[in-house]
Amino acid sequence: MNIHTPAAKLAKSGRGAKKTVQDPVKPSRAEAEAAIRVLLSWAGDDPAREGLRDTPSRVARAYKEFFKGYAEDPEALLARTFEETEGYDEMVVLRDIRIESHCEHHMVPIIGRAHVAYLPGTRVVGISKLARVVDAYCRRFQIQEKLTAQIANTIQDVLQPRGVAVVIEAGHQCMSTRGVHKPGASMVTSRMLGEFRDNPSTRREFLAMISPRTCSALES
Ligand SMILES: [Zn+2]
Repeated sequence: MNIHTPAAKLAKSGRGAKKTVQDPVKPSRAEAEAAIRVLLSWAGDDPAREGLRDTPSRVARAYKEFFKGYAEDPEALLARTFEETEGYDEMVVLRDIRIESHCEHHMVPIIGRAHVAYLPGTRVVGISKLARVVDAYCRRFQIQEKLTAQIANTIQDVLQPRGVAVVIEAGHQCMSTRGVHKPGASMVTSRMLGEFRDNPSTRREFLAMISPRTCSALES
C-alpha cells in the first residue's frame, strides 16, 4: 500500500499550503479509479454492473475540477495591480461570491458565499481576481476557518492594503446529510485585518454593506 506523504506534508504546512502544489508521487489516474471502485464495493454495490462501470472515470474527472486549486498559486493571481486610482482610498467590497468547497473531514461539499473587502493602500487589483483567489482556496480540501484565513492573509500579504475583511457563510453537507442532520444551519466565519480589526466604524461599515437587509435595500 502506498502512503502518499505529500498530502500529509501539505496539511501540516498551514499557510504554506497556499502555494502551488506539485506532488511528485501523485497516484496515477488508474490508481485513483481503482480506489473509487473500492469505495463503491465498500458502500455495498457492484462496481462491475453497467450503471457503475464508468463511474470511477467520471469521479476522477470530477475530482480534477473540484480540486484544481492545488495547481493554482493564489498569490500570483494578485500580482497585477493598478495604481491609477485618482486617489481612491475607500473600501472595495465584493460580496455574495458563490463558494463551492469540500470539507476535509468528510470529503463532502461546503456551499455558501463569501464577502471580501479591502481598504486600498496605493494599489488596487482587478475585482475578478479577488473571486479567483477565493476559488483557488475553495478548490481544495478545507475547513471553513482555514479557508477564511487563507483568503484574508493572501490579500494582505500581496496587496498590502490598509486592511482586509473576509466573511464566509456556508452550509456543510457533513452536517446536513449525515451526523446531526441539520439542514439550513449555516456557519459564519470572519477574518478582519488592519483597519477592519482596529477601527470599529470601518468594521461596522463593512458589515452593514454585506447584511442581507442592506443588500436588498441597495438592490431595490
Ligand atoms: Zn465535515
